[in-house]
Amino acid sequence: MPISIPKGVFDVLPFPLDSSMEWNTSERWAYVESVAIEVARSYGFEEIRIPIFEHTELFIRSVGEQTDIAQKEMFTFLDRGNRSLSLRPEGTASVMRSYVENHLSQRGLPQKYYYLGSMFRYERPQAGRYRQFGQFGLEAIGSPSAYQDAEVIDLMLTIYKKLGLKKLQVMINSVGTPQTRKQYLDALRAFFAPRLTELSQDSQTRFEKNVLRILDSKDTTDKKIIEGAPSILDFLDDASKQHFALLQTLLGNLGIDFVINDKLVRGLDYYTKTVFEITCDDLGAQSTLAGGGRYDNLIQELEGPATPSVGFAMGLERLLQVLHRQNAPIKSLPRTQFLLIALGQEAKCAAFSLLKQLREHHLMVEMEYSDRKIGATLQSADKKNIPYALILGEEELAGRTITLKSLKERSSDSISLDKLINHLKTL
Ligand code: AMP
Repeated sequence: MPISIPKGVFDVLPFPLDSSMEWNTSERWAYVESVAIEVARSYGFEEIRIPIFEHTELFIRSVGEQTDIAQKEMFTFLDRGNRSLSLRPEGTASVMRSYVENHLSQRGLPQKYYYLGSMFRYERPQAGRYRQFGQFGLEAIGSPSAYQDAEVIDLMLTIYKKLGLKKLQVMINSVGTPQTRKQYLDALRAFFAPRLTELSQDSQTRFEKNVLRILDSKDTTDKKIIEGAPSILDFLDDASKQHFALLQTLLGNLGIDFVINDKLVRGLDYYTKTVFEITCDDLGAQSTLAGGGRYDNLIQELEGPATPSVGFAMGLERLLQVLHRQNAPIKSLPRTQFLLIALGQEAKCAAFSLLKQLREHHLMVEMEYSDRKIGATLQSADKKNIPYALILGEEELAGRTITLKSLKERSSDSISLDKLINHLKTL
C-alpha cells in the first residue's frame, strides 16, 4: 500500500484537493504571507528565522509547566545523544532564546522581529485545529510602553484589513504582574472551592494544577459559573491600571473597536499586563484568529537581561479559511503567459534559445518539449489557462517570424522575430 499522510497535517498544492479545501492553495498561502510580511516590514519589523526544534526545556520554562502545551501537546523525542528535543509549539520562546543567546540587546532597543512558519502541537485534529499549522508572529522587544502594545495590535489589524477580512472582534484584558496575579489566583481558588463538584472534570483538574486555566473552559456549565468569578481587573496594581487605561485611549484614538474581556487570560504563563485576542464570527468553534500580549519577565526567566516585550501570533489556516468564506479577493501571483511550441528539430533548437531570451526580458514563458501533435498541446495549454501560444515551424524560422495564437480568442498573428519581445510586452 502506498504511504499516506499522517493525521492532522495536509499538503498545500497549487489547486484545492477537494471542495472543502478551496481555502488551501499554495497561491492563497503565498498571498497572505506576502501581505503579512509587507505590513510588518512597513512597521519596522525585521525577519528572524528560528529552528523547527529546540531543547524541550526551553518550552517548558517559557510557556509554563502546567499549560496544555507543556503537559500534552508537544512532539517530544530523544535524539541519538539522549537529549530531549521538541518540535516548536509556538515561536516566542525561540525568539527570546535567540535574543539572549546572541546578545541581540547589543544592537540597541527596541528590537522588532517577525517570523513565519509551521508550529506543531499534538492535538485532536478537528476543523481549525491541526498538528502542524502555520503562524505569522512578531515580537517587539525592549519597550515597556502601552504605545508599543497599541502598535502591535494596530499592525495585526492592518494585516487583516489589507486582506479584506470582516467581522473581527478585538478583545483585550490586563493580567497584571506576577504579584497581583498571585492574589487573584487565591481569590479564584476561594471562589471555585465551594463549587468544585459542579465544575467539569477538566476544570476540577485545572483547579489543582493551574486554576487560571478554568477561565478558558468551553464547558457550558463551567461558563455560567465563571461569569460570577472575581475579575482580575480588580486586583491590578497602579502601574498596570495606568498601562491598561493608556492602551484603551490609544486604541480608541486609532479608531479600533475593542471589548474588555476580564476573563481573557490566554493559555500561557508568561504574560504580564496586556493580553489580547482577535476572533471572527465566521470561523465557527475555533474562532480565535490570533492572540498575544506583553511578557515583561520572560527574557529574565530565560536568564537574559530584564527586557519588557510584547508580541502576537496569528494562525494562518484559520485566516485562509475565513478569507475564503468571506469571498475576500486574493491577488494572483504572476503565471505563465506564453507556451512556446516548436515544430521540427531545427526550430526546437532555435526556440530553446528564444525561450531564454524571452525570460531574460521577464516574460513568463514555458516551452513544450514533447513531439506530440500541436492540437493536443494547445488543448492542454488552454486547460492550464495559458492565454497565448507561440508557434515556431520551419516556415516561420526561414522567414524570421513566429505565429502568436490567442487561445481565448482563437486568433493568430504572424510577428517578426525582431519585434517579438516588444510586441509580447504590450499584451
Ligand atoms: P496560540 O499560540 O495558542 O495563542 O495560537 C495563536 C493562533 O494560532 C491561534 O489563534 C490560532 O489561530 C492558531 N492556532 C493555534 N493552535 C492551532 C492548531 N492546532 N491548528 C491551527 N491553528 C492553530
